[in-house]
Amino acid sequence: MPKKVVVIGGGIAGIQACLDIADMGYEVHLVERTPSIGGRMAQLDKTFPTNDCSMCILSPKMIMCAGHENIKLHTYSEVEGVSGEFPRLKVRIREKARHIALNRCTGCGDCITKCPVKVPNEFEEGLSIRKAIYLPFPQAVPRKVTIDAEHCRMITEKKCGVCKKVCQAGAIDYEQKDSLIDIDAAAIVVATGFDLFDASALRQYGLGSCKDVVTSLQLERILSAAGPTSGHLLRPSDKKEPRKLAFIQCVGSRDAKMLPYCSSVCCMYATKESILVREHVPDIESTIFYMDMRATGKGFQEFVNRAEKQYSVRYLRSRPASLQAAHGESGVLVTYELVGGTTEQRTEEFDMVVLCPGLVPSSGSEALCALLRIELDKDRFVKMPNWKHPIDSSRKGILVCGFAGEPMDIPDSVAQASGVAARISELLQAVA
Ligand code: SF4
Ligand code: SF4
Repeated sequence: MPKKVVVIGGGIAGIQACLDIADMGYEVHLVERTPSIGGRMAQLDKTFPTNDCSMCILSPKMIMCAGHENIKLHTYSEVEGVSGEFPRLKVRIREKARHIALNRCTGCGDCITKCPVKVPNEFEEGLSIRKAIYLPFPQAVPRKVTIDAEHCRMITEKKCGVCKKVCQAGAIDYEQKDSLIDIDAAAIVVATGFDLFDASALRQYGLGSCKDVVTSLQLERILSAAGPTSGHLLRPSDKKEPRKLAFIQCVGSRDAKMLPYCSSVCCMYATKESILVREHVPDIESTIFYMDMRATGKGFQEFVNRAEKQYSVRYLRSRPASLQAAHGESGVLVTYELVGGTTEQRTEEFDMVVLCPGLVPSSGSEALCALLRIELDKDRFVKMPNWKHPIDSSRKGILVCGFAGEPMDIPDSVAQASGVAARISELLQAVA
């Protein structure tokens, strides 16, 4: 029987599952579709309810993962096929061409400095640019650059070639092709994480039409010292410090026409962000427009109480009806009614508004689940039909952890990932 496990998704859940499974002596293959492991947690500035630095927790785990003798990283890779049954599964992985010889690239960045092509930076949620040859973020693992073939002039037009001229290590390979790897695996873990609901689909919230309306993930990047404004809280329209900020909860969530479920973490991360902005702009006033406050974890209600009392965060129970640009391009007018109060409509001006969109299973996870032949629930999360083993998918030997199965926060994702490792050990010992 193969003693190998394939983990799909290199966010915090996938990383923790890999570390625990590898520590038990199994060979683990971690498949991550972007050029670096780290996932969404790498984009966060701090974590609730302790306001610990996100990268300070994540980065050591990323490095342990890369250095573990039992873990093989397949970054910039996707699962392309799965056949067989537990415990004899065959997994085909496509390692996409980075156009870089990984064994040569030192991550020096000389090529990035010289590349003339600029494209929106996905890691910075479009708030800055990156080059066609890039490192996704400073702490990326592996610390190797990638050429974005769609935008590289050499690959698309046979022009340029600058990076090859400056690379002293001889790491550039424009002709590199994808490679296919087949793994005989006993089990598979799905840890594909989440995306933000596209809030621009709800035009009343002004994302895309009002410059000073941003998403919560964009705010995380703005607050990050390594982010597009070097950690200075500046609104997009005129790069001034906002003094009055609004957060709008449940954008797309708990809406029968959009996402009927609660995304579980938004009340708490909005509270966290409303505290963090005070550390950047001490006299800032924050208002959180919410439907119900869902502070259900350990220390969560105390965190909300602290935001209200110590940081003067104003919680207003209301779902705003519309957002409009206030003066030309700057500022935002928010129109709302208070729930349970008068039916009077109010319009209030804010310097900047942060939307907290619902969270959805990551793009491509549905196609992946079809490939794996596992069922989804009505909200497109992976179905876990057995209440006795709530980390088993509908197919034996394929397990789930983190947001792929249901909305949950970081500590729950980590705990579930460790649970998956224990379950794999149980399953494999039974067939040994
Ligand atoms: Fe440095 Fe070459 Fe790697 Fe670019 S490809 S980071 S120049 S070693
Ligand atoms: Fe950038 Fe492509 Fe030119 Fe290299 S060859 S510098 S990646 S545009």
